[in-house]
Amino acid sequence: MLCLASQSESRMAILRAAGVPFDAMAARVDEDSLKASLLADGASPRDVVDALAEYKARKVSSKQGGLVLGCDQVLVFEGTIFGKPTSPGDLRDLMRHMNGRPHKLLTAQVLYKDGEPIWRHIGRVDLTMRVLSAAEIDDHIETHWDDIQHSAGGYHAETTPHLFDDIKGDWFDVLGLSITPLINILRAHGAAGTAKRPVLAGVLGCPIKQSKSPILHGTWLWQHGLQGMYVPVHVPKDQFERTIRILRAAGFAGCNVTIPHKEAALACSKEQSAAARAIGASNTLFFRPDGIVADNTDAFGFMENIRAHRADWSADGQTCLVLGAGGAARAIIFALLEDGAARVFLSNRTSAKAETLAQEFGERVHVLPWDARSSRNTQIDFLVNTTSLGMDGQPSLEFDLSGLRDTTIVTDIVYKPLETNLLLGARHMGCATIDGLGMLLHQAVPGFEGWFGTRPTVDHALRDAVLA
Ligand code: NAP
Repeated sequence: MLCLASQSESRMAILRAAGVPFDAMAARVDEDSLKASLLADGASPRDVVDALAEYKARKVSSKQGGLVLGCDQVLVFEGTIFGKPTSPGDLRDLMRHMNGRPHKLLTAQVLYKDGEPIWRHIGRVDLTMRVLSAAEIDDHIETHWDDIQHSAGGYHAETTPHLFDDIKGDWFDVLGLSITPLINILRAHGAAGTAKRPVLAGVLGCPIKQSKSPILHGTWLWQHGLQGMYVPVHVPKDQFERTIRILRAAGFAGCNVTIPHKEAALACSKEQSAAARAIGASNTLFFRPDGIVADNTDAFGFMENIRAHRADWSADGQTCLVLGAGGAARAIIFALLEDGAARVFLSNRTSAKAETLAQEFGERVHVLPWDARSSRNTQIDFLVNTTSLGMDGQPSLEFDLSGLRDTTIVTDIVYKPLETNLLLGARHMGCATIDGLGMLLHQAVPGFEGWFGTRPTVDHALRDAVLA
């Protein structure tokens, strides 16, 4: 089995994602003094990165036999190796200097077998930093400092590709490991197992740190033993198209899209599903060689969640009440009408938004004033809250439940908390209630299947992983 002479989280993540059997041992090398002495001797950046990788491999190889991999990565700008920023001010100066100019990342690997070097490889990536405004540089440093302060150059291109005009090279070299040539040499030595270059996908949004999608897709990749990586990508509002261009060039299979880019995602596509077109927004993109295909899986996820709780349920002929008229409401109204709902009452704080949706979706949709949102309770078969009210940190949803029948199904797409006040009250009245977490899980199924080639299942283990 391969031994990685490093505790680097990102390199271990790539090896795991590729399915390479490995263990890891820190090499404990004084990299700074080694680098300084090599540079003092006039070594080139290529020689330095190669020597650092070799030193780590040799050190661990002296303690154990078998295959040992040493790795290193340097950033080279105007012929000079740049290290980690010493402070936010230092990084601000460096980024101003690199603005609009090219630099490169060199990623070196040296493989030892039983104490002898048997393979070495240096991957090169050419990057051109975009001309960033002072405000963009400050925003980057403020948002990402905790993550980037230990990285050469003070960025993680993989999570903020919008900083660049161009990234030419292998995406895994950007991440710090030349995975394809490594798998090839490991295979030649019978140490690759079933390893494969991982399929890449991710979620694009701003903010993105709170997204549950990486846990969700990561759990499925692990459950199904698939070679894939799913990464969060921070994309400011005006940088969506640039990011998509870079990720397509990097070989991503596609991505999920969240606030504030769902309309831009639809606009950048060559082909759209009927749901994406009707909803006017896309949350799932498939990158095909001849263009981007846009889907919206919220309607699918919503219906699958209801049917996971009530297999025989259908909106056919039912009278429904939808609270809220935002993006999620669009998807849910579309789903209910497609499934045959006879009438959809729609109530929203800003009534003009409800009126617009009613006009778009046609005569089965009727607007109820927000103050009269409970006035049709006796007629309602199905009630859904699509507002953000009731979510942790938001005001509670005020809804008078009196008059609802105990046959009415009540659901809330807010899933933090799992049981909102609306669901609690409805449950006490004897109504069937369905929480919103399942919608989040089910809406992810079509994307995962399209990118990674296996249809995943939504089960308790997945719910637990996402809730943890
Ligand atoms: P959105 O487009 O921003 O819409 C927000 C909706 O909430 C609007 O109808 C808005 O009314 C209403 N609202 C917000 N604050 C309100 C207040 N103080 N009083 C009355 N109404 C208020 O957001 P969205 O994308 O539709 O998402 C809505 C909620 O659903 C979020 O909590 C989101 O996390 C959740 N969600 C869950 C899933 C899932 O998979 N479970 C999927 C998507 C969304 P106005 O039009 O008057 O502003």
